[in-house]
Amino acid sequence: MRIAGQLSLYDLPRICPGVCRQTNAEYKAGGTRTVKVRGVEFGGDHPVVIAGPCAVESHEQTLTVARAVKRAGAQMLRGGAYKPRTSPHDFQGTGLEGLCILRIASEETGLPVVTEVMDTRRVEEVADVADMIQIGSRNMQNYPLLTAVGRAGKPVLLKRGMAASLCEWLGSAEYIAKQGNLDIVLCERGIRAFPSGEYSRFVLDLNVIPAMQETTFLPVIVDPSHATGVASMVEPASRAALEFGSQGLIIEVADFSMGYPQCDGLQAIDEKTLKRIVQFAESAGSTCRTSMWLSEAG
Ligand code: PEP
Ligand code: MN
Repeated sequence: MRIAGQLSLYDLPRICPGVCRQTNAEYKAGGTRTVKVRGVEFGGDHPVVIAGPCAVESHEQTLTVARAVKRAGAQMLRGGAYKPRTSPHDFQGTGLEGLCILRIASEETGLPVVTEVMDTRRVEEVADVADMIQIGSRNMQNYPLLTAVGRAGKPVLLKRGMAASLCEWLGSAEYIAKQGNLDIVLCERGIRAFPSGEYSRFVLDLNVIPAMQETTFLPVIVDPSHATGVASMVEPASRAALEFGSQGLIIEVADFSMGYPQCDGLQAIDEKTLKRIVQFAESAGSTCRTSMWLSEAG
């Protein structure tokens, strides 16, 4: 019996022929597409570490953290100018001013920058500053936004929706690919499951890393910060993700001497911890494995 709307991994060639391993001759037998972001290579020989504040709050805070990120050896800077917050009463980010701050931080450190866009009307403005555009978990299935970002001419970091299946996630990647943009990096950031919110923020789905690498040729990275929501879990979660073959990490960092962050302070790590994670990532090398369990099962 088939249920309307029910998807299985065997539907992937129909749902997402543009990003599916099986339907792309070049990658059918294995391999990852290299996604280049201003000199940084996702899917290359080493995992990429992206780090920075949750939100761009001020010039001083962002520059201080960006310098720490650079010193720790991370290859890219993150920071949200537009923040998706649960409550409209919470800090919403610094918007256009935040984008200007990110540009300055990127120019000073030389680090390429990834930042989130939430609104189709802001895609151009964000693409003007960002080296890579982030689609956040809450917008993974915002199809007009995915289409607009697909046309923006910049690499895209596509975070997994917090309740998204693998098929739904790849369907979203297909919306970007359909616009002619295959520079997509997928990011597992924790899913909503029974214990989420009790002892960690979400549940880090490590198993999805090899499953994704089996089904698509796009690089897959992990966000251990939002997945756990607990600073002390970020380093072990990073190591676990790399052991599972993650091709990169995106991590939130704070300098608490600058004041307590307005956003996600409990999950922010310091420069020293970031440095250890970067060193571990450098030693990890590229561990993308395609075991072909899917074709064997078929
Ligand atoms: C973020 O990376 O700033 C963020 C809000 O993450 P997510 O969309 O995964 O919640
Ligand atoms: Mn955050």
